Amino acid sequence: MSDLYYVQDSRSYLGNDILWWADKGGYTTNLSKAEVFTKERAVHLNQNRITDIPWPKEYIDERTRPAVDVQYTNIKEALKGKGIRLKKKKWKRPTMGKTRGNCPECGKITWDYNPYENARCSDHQKSYDIEWLNA
Ligand SMILES: [Zn+2]
Repeated sequence: MSDLYYVQDSRSYLGNDILWWADKGGYTTNLSKAEVFTKERAVHLNQNRITDIPWPKEYIDERTRPAVDVQYTNIKEALKGKGIRLKKKKWKRPTMGKTRGNCPECGKITWDYNPYENARCSDHQKSYDIEWLNA
């Protein structure tokens, strides 16, 4: 197993993101653009400047997460030409004229057009009908 390192410039951060020595010079928060160093080179950098911190590549690679920065996104632009129309918030529907009640057998919430009687739930309506037929 190779002993590889990223080197952090610990003088500053970008948001919560660590700044790494970049492959092409300068610094980057994008780990895929960070330069990978041998142990010797990483330690050498730290010996020259205490703010350059060597991190084992394996340790850091385990701690990255793919994330999307909202400031780089635009849903209208993203869906252009995709034939998708986003659902818009609907106005609240007028009531359907049913009244809420509770099943007299089990107490489940039921809805019925008759506001003066508690409707039975679907479980108990059936057995009620059968009882009535057999009576
Ligand atoms: Zn019931």
